Amino acid sequence: MKNDTKLIHSGRKYDRTFHIVNPPVFRASTILYANLEEFQDRALKKYDGPSYGIHGTPTNMALADAVAQLEGGHQTQLTSSGLSAVTYAMLAFLSPGDHILVTDSVYEPTRNFCNGILPRFGVEVSYYNPCCGAEIEKEIRPNTKAIFLESPGSMTFEVQDIPAITSLARERKILTILDNTWSAGYFFKAFEHGVDVSLQALSKYIGGHADLLLGSITLAAEENYRKVKDTVDAFGDCTSPDVCSMALRGLRTLEVRLKRCESNALEVARWLQERPEVSRVLHPALPTDPGHALWKRDFSGACGLFGFVMNSRNPKGLAAMIDGFRLFGLGASWGGFESLVMPGAPHRSRTATTWEDKGHVVRLHIGLENPADLIADLSDGFQRYAGVS
Ligand SMILES: *Cc1c(COP(=O)(O)O)cnc(C)c1O
Repeated sequence: MKNDTKLIHSGRKYDRTFHIVNPPVFRASTILYANLEEFQDRALKKYDGPSYGIHGTPTNMALADAVAQLEGGHQTQLTSSGLSAVTYAMLAFLSPGDHILVTDSVYEPTRNFCNGILPRFGVEVSYYNPCCGAEIEKEIRPNTKAIFLESPGSMTFEVQDIPAITSLARERKILTILDNTWSAGYFFKAFEHGVDVSLQALSKYIGGHADLLLGSITLAAEENYRKVKDTVDAFGDCTSPDVCSMALRGLRTLEVRLKRCESNALEVARWLQERPEVSRVLHPALPTDPGHALWKRDFSGACGLFGFVMNSRNPKGLAAMIDGFRLFGLGASWGGFESLVMPGAPHRSRTATTWEDKGHVVRLHIGLENPADLIADLSDGFQRYAGVS
């Protein structure tokens, strides 16, 4: 079945949702058992059916099924946010004495967790160059248990050679965990590229309307699914059926929104490439991007999130540019219907690599507005930038 068809028909197991096209919100804490025997077996039931509210109702399960199908995985565990999907994916597989390799281009809050929390539990963390490909072999230690990937990096957009890394990891029985938020699980099929764990912030494109927080961890193997589920349960994390219902509504239109964001973003990116204020555009779908060949080989498209580097540094000009935008909102959590802007500071956080560019790094999320209006907003912004010093 093609991806777009799958999005429409996934997560609709008729025995759970009673032939209702869009599964309604089932709210529950208590779920009753028919007899003592069933009650005593409830620990097994939690892996694939409603057993207690914290494990989800048919609404949560419909979303989990749909995300699993979208990612092409075996099963999905939902979590309360994208960040908790990251942290539980790590906690499920790491133990004291283990080492995890993390891409230097990783989402900042993921780095905060790795630096601030994992060492307290006896886990060693080190960072690797996102562009290292098979060279990652040099970074592997005898106690390396997992490799964390994010491709493209959600601030700087380096594309990783995922198949090179996963095949090496497989040989050495090292688990690979991918933050697949940028592709929404749509443009990149993690399991076809050897990844073991694919997680997403559903808060972004799946929710798609800037009004919910949710995460997903999708697994290729039942054994890994159970490990993740047991960990999430042990910490008492859960998701609201109301929020899952909203995410499921978002998921149905994922393909049309993503494709419009993709074409709008490419139009803006190409315009930016021609601007004298811009030294380079960080967008792997542009043929000039260093990650283009890998992106073209492994991805079937690009979302609306990309960045650009300015030719100069002028903090007052940057403030004038950003503060004066009429359409680009200044804020985090992209993937909604509207355009956003955010400045980045990759030179501050890198430890395995150095960020060489001197100019301001600006990240854009291109939404569903008409790109001509977005380009006009950016063009006026560049004028304000130049007018202040
Ligand atoms: C936003 C984001 C997250 C975290 O998602 P939240 O739902 O905001 O916690 C994780 N990874 C990436 C790449 C993100 O962009």
